[in-house]
Amino acid sequence: MPSWYPFAQGQAAGDQQMRELLGGKGANLAEMCRLGLPVPPGFTLPTNLCREFFEAGSVLSPDVLQGIEDGIAHIEASLAGPRFGDPGRPLLVSVRSGARESMPGMMDTVLNLGLNADTVEGLASRTGDRRFALDSYRRLLQMFGDVVNGLPREDLEEPLRRRKERRGVGFDHQLDERDLEIIIGELQAIYENGVGKPFPHDPRRQLREALAAVFLSWYGKRARTYRMLNGIPDSWGTAVNVQAMVFGNLGPSSATGVAFSRNPATGEREPMGEWLANAQGEDVVAGIRTPGPLRGSASSPDSPPSLEEALPEIYRELDELLVGLERHFRDIQDVEFTVEEGKLWVLQTRSGKRTASAALRAAVEMTEEGMIDRATAVRRVAPEQLDQLLHPQIDPHAPRDLIARGLPASPGAASGRIVFNSAEAERLGKAGESVVLVRSETSPEDIHGMHAARAILTRTGGMTSHAAVVARGMGRTCVVGCGNLVIDEDAGEVRVEGGEEVRVLKAGSVVTVDGASGEVLLGAVPTIEAEVGADFGTLLGWADEIRSLGVRANAETAVDAARAVELGAEGIGLCRTEHMFFDPHRILSVREMILADTAAQRRSALNKIEPVQRKDFADLLRTMAGRPMTVRLLDPPLHEFLPVELSEIEAIADDLGLKVAEVRRKTEGLREQNPMLGLRGCRLGLLYPEIYETQVRALYNAACDVIEEGGEVQPEVMVPLVMNAEELSHIRERIVATAGEVLRERGQSVPLHIGTMIELPRAALQAAEIAEHADFFSWGTNDLTQTAMGLSRDDAGRFLPEYVERGLLDADPFATIDEGGVGQLVTLGVQRGREARPGLVMGICGEHGGDPRSIHFFHRQGLDYVSCSPFRVPVARLAAAHAALETPAPTA
Ligand code: PEP
Ligand code: MG
Repeated sequence: MPSWYPFAQGQAAGDQQMRELLGGKGANLAEMCRLGLPVPPGFTLPTNLCREFFEAGSVLSPDVLQGIEDGIAHIEASLAGPRFGDPGRPLLVSVRSGARESMPGMMDTVLNLGLNADTVEGLASRTGDRRFALDSYRRLLQMFGDVVNGLPREDLEEPLRRRKERRGVGFDHQLDERDLEIIIGELQAIYENGVGKPFPHDPRRQLREALAAVFLSWYGKRARTYRMLNGIPDSWGTAVNVQAMVFGNLGPSSATGVAFSRNPATGEREPMGEWLANAQGEDVVAGIRTPGPLRGSASSPDSPPSLEEALPEIYRELDELLVGLERHFRDIQDVEFTVEEGKLWVLQTRSGKRTASAALRAAVEMTEEGMIDRATAVRRVAPEQLDQLLHPQIDPHAPRDLIARGLPASPGAASGRIVFNSAEAERLGKAGESVVLVRSETSPEDIHGMHAARAILTRTGGMTSHAAVVARGMGRTCVVGCGNLVIDEDAGEVRVEGGEEVRVLKAGSVVTVDGASGEVLLGAVPTIEAEVGADFGTLLGWADEIRSLGVRANAETAVDAARAVELGAEGIGLCRTEHMFFDPHRILSVREMILADTAAQRRSALNKIEPVQRKDFADLLRTMAGRPMTVRLLDPPLHEFLPVELSEIEAIADDLGLKVAEVRRKTEGLREQNPMLGLRGCRLGLLYPEIYETQVRALYNAACDVIEEGGEVQPEVMVPLVMNAEELSHIRERIVATAGEVLRERGQSVPLHIGTMIELPRAALQAAEIAEHADFFSWGTNDLTQTAMGLSRDDAGRFLPEYVERGLLDADPFATIDEGGVGQLVTLGVQRGREARPGLVMGICGEHGGDPRSIHFFHRQGLDYVSCSPFRVPVARLAAAHAALETPAPTA
């Protein structure tokens, strides 16, 4: 396999299909070259070399060294002029990482490689701009010191900052050659002091060291965190692109910028982006100066002009290029460009990260434009992204105290206490606090803090700055470029200037950030639930055509059930009846039932519960309007309904006319060491049959009530925590008898669907025997995970995050099904159950039912439906469609 893949305008060894080998950036650079687009020549070192680099103990192999030599010769030949290290006419190159999936800002880049004390003069005479050449050298020293040698970034920024202060100027470009020479001298000294040897003069050594550093950044903390959050395996490795430098900082006809082929916030079909005159790429992303827009006219005399106004020819060329790239790649493109003395160069194109609403709109519109088909449109929207659309918005009628306004970078509305650094955000976030991270600008180091924060607010930067791009990807509320904030981290305060009066907010003050309008409001402002637009329904309709897995909801109240139906649920897969018992109006009768001495007393208490439960069931059945509705009989251990505090015990004794000591004795008698493994589930039903009988009577009476009103019903009864066929057979008999009695009394007929949860390992193994007595199975993967892995679902949260962080588990098994263990029990149980009873209906109602990765697994197992919380129903519909596109449905 070649150790390097050349590209130059008009030809390339790679193409867009080769992402695995060349990384996303390298594959797309190659493809753009094939299309004849103006891409500076270069070469890609493939991802397998990254793996080999680590296997060899972080050294570059002779093959790589040869590849570098050949690659540089290729760039020199393509440019026919400048040569790497030539003091007369030096070639400069950039080294950039590029993994299979884009990981924005997570790995390292080094620009301007090839400069030293000699070549800097060559660059000066080649460009006729010595100031520019010195500034490029200054940038190289800073970047190299930081990326390659890990010198503190602040130390490396100090000479420039100090110089500007000495000269009393605000901007880098106000410094002259002499200033830059002084800064360069200081940077060289900092380098030598920090590293213990001088900055490498030899361009080839610079290049080799930079390449090794970029490979090493694959295992940097930022990159590892990003991979963990995004499920990207370590084994992929990164490719590295070495490319001839072009300069956007060569004067007024030079520029740099980023451009999207469609608006990444709304999906609207218009070029959108930002540019900076006379600047290098990192200046835009770093949010150091406020960039101008691509189109239109400047919003005020002080704001920078648009590219269209300043460089109209370039704008037109760029616009055409964006349209062409989008048509070719059939997706929203996010392009980095540079204009060097009036010539447009493309440095990168990739699929643009977008908000959920932009993803939906673009997917639907591109389908309507005939650019993609429905299946592609469905694939284009990540199920997790839909959550963003269901985020709360600020209540428009709520009083608002506007304190600042910035750019609306990522939608949603969130309140929290302000914190000024990521470590603090992470600490408080972990402690369960809602925080708003307020920064001058964010950098990839802030990823932890951004993840922990409910919202992110920055002072500088534009819509494509780091904060904006990363927050959008995470679905975090984010406002950037809020220029009138003056952050004083030392004083622990932020001053908001520019209004009638200066307002000062101390760390810990509560603000609300509106990522849709860009507003920052004082205090916790009430929010209202989100509304989804027409594209949402269209795309999910297409997903429904594709998926084979049914989607139901876990719901106990008519309100939740109605929302679930609205979001596309096809039934209720789990109604946890105990949630009805906790209602403050009912809990007393429930307690009376639990504390009863005799079956007769218990029955009398249950007689009070029955009519209320019947009404609840009737409400739910009406809402579900003939859709299946699975009612699970009582599951939790009874002590959960009893109080712990003495004062509460006294109150209950009083209410029920019992002695305090007696209530205490009984309460304590019901305590268990391992209540999750104790008297719960069907065990309750076997020991206290009247509880289940009451529930069954309530359900079938409710069904008859609704039928008599002219409604349709499809109730299903589900028995929890079964471990063997005998338990189910006993309980089933009583359900059949009780339901039969009700139906006879009422003169109605309702088909009986009686099934069981499979949530114990033994039940999974005994699936064939259990299936004899079950009309359906519903996998209770919460308890199954707990019991199969020996992990307490209540307490394991204390250490699971660390397990995941240390790679001992690849995900929290209570969020994503553990395919290798718990999943095997599912596979086995599905197979045994269906062998015994062909066509046996099977669903899953554990939390995994709303988790996209787990949904793929359940689809492959041939389950009939997943059931999840109402807000996750759209996510599940889409994930089920993705699963069907990936693997055809297995036949049941
Ligand atoms: C389960 O165990 O997966 C389940 C759905 O039941 P619960 O969470 O109520 O125990
Ligand atoms: Mg359970």
